[in-house]
Amino acid sequence: MDDRRGYIGLHVDDGLFKAAFVDVRGEILEVDEREASVDSVSEMLNTVVEIIAELKQRASHHGRTVAGVGIGMPGMVNWESQRVEWAPDLPAIEGFRLSEDVVDRIGVPVVMDNAVRLAAYGEYRCGIGRDASNLVYIHLGTSVGAGLILDGLIYRGALGLAGQLGHMTVDPDGLECRCGNVGCLETIASGPNLVRRTKERLFRDRSSSLSSLALPGRGELTPERIAMEALDGDDFSLMMLEQTGRWVGVAIANLLNLLNLDMVILSGGVMVAGDLFLKPVIAETESRARWIPQERCRIVGSPLGGQATLIGGAMLARDLQRSGDAR
Ligand SMILES: [Zn+2]
Repeated sequence: MDDRRGYIGLHVDDGLFKAAFVDVRGEILEVDEREASVDSVSEMLNTVVEIIAELKQRASHHGRTVAGVGIGMPGMVNWESQRVEWAPDLPAIEGFRLSEDVVDRIGVPVVMDNAVRLAAYGEYRCGIGRDASNLVYIHLGTSVGAGLILDGLIYRGALGLAGQLGHMTVDPDGLECRCGNVGCLETIASGPNLVRRTKERLFRDRSSSLSSLALPGRGELTPERIAMEALDGDDFSLMMLEQTGRWVGVAIANLLNLLNLDMVILSGGVMVAGDLFLKPVIAETESRARWIPQERCRIVGSPLGGQATLIGGAMLARDLQRSGDAR
């Protein structure tokens, strides 16, 4: 393959549009990042087309060409119809679809998939998961999502909706979730729910260095902030991370018992705490999936982090062309 060719990975993350021009080996050569309206599908499509045009131009200045594009979107993405079906974090993008008109405007083959699924593919193709042909990538963000690689292939499921780890029931008597179910992992471990649980406890325990942030007008309480306070030695923040990590460990043990994975990769704001979050996750997983030796299923943070979806999108576009899929 001509190594002057490259691929664009693009990630629509709330109102932030991030894109990278990536060479055939997965190295990022150019990036573009901009905030833009997500109020309507047509506005978003325009932004997507503009970013791709910009990166194509910059690539051409270096004598390179863009051969394909992979776009990561939040929510449930129907792979067959290339349409966003359900996106509770960003309802305006429901119905976002790569129509023939949009594909014509982009001018090169383009595919769309769930952003966490592409992150899994990025780590599998170019990151820490290179030697793991069975892995799950879990993102603990506004939602909790997962991307699965099974036997070296992206697993999408019968309707293309696989990966809704956030809606795995972990507490049958738990809180009602926005999906309509009760006790979903997301009601405990998503960013907003970690913050909610932290605030509820802080009103009873004011000894934490976080307590001032639980009051209105005192700055923003975020998963990253909780993680940083834990790193600074705040016992309360550490306890919140440990509790959350145990619930995540319950979900991971269920996955390991079912799928016998080689690797679990975690990302999201709480991962700022590194081992302080990973330790309770690993301990809980081990206690519930005892027959899987720890060295045969590593549970790690995502080294590619925010770049995983960009690289994964580009590599998926590359690999579909290599396999002859002409999307
Ligand atoms: Zn749910």
